[in-house]
Amino acid sequence: MHIKSGDIVEVMAGDDKKVKGKVLHIDRDKGKITVEGVGRVYKHVRRSQRNPQGGRLSKEMPIQISNVLLVCPKCNKGVRTGVKLLDSGVKQRVCKKCDASLGEISKSKKKAAAK
Ligand SMILES: [Zn+2]
Repeated sequence: MHIKSGDIVEVMAGDDKKVKGKVLHIDRDKGKITVEGVGRVYKHVRRSQRNPQGGRLSKEMPIQISNVLLVCPKCNKGVRTGVKLLDSGVKQRVCKKCDASLGEISKSKKKAAAK
């Protein structure tokens, strides 16, 4: 699974099934991912000096990383992704359905070696 923060993913299981959102945070150790608008919980806040309005704060809870798929802009839905190695040495994510590029996942090895 080659997902990074800032990606748009679609939830494939659970209460937020079919919801698309931006990846806010990934916890690879725990296999969890936080997606904007997904797994949202509300916390009621009393009026205080810091929060004079009081009210509700919303916060996204992490969900299983295996429950999301990267969204292909061409297919406009969550898709399985493959990896393509370009001649330049760059690894690219590709949509397994339409073969569209979904961005680089690693820089050229030649460049990395020069560092
Ligand atoms: Zn596609």
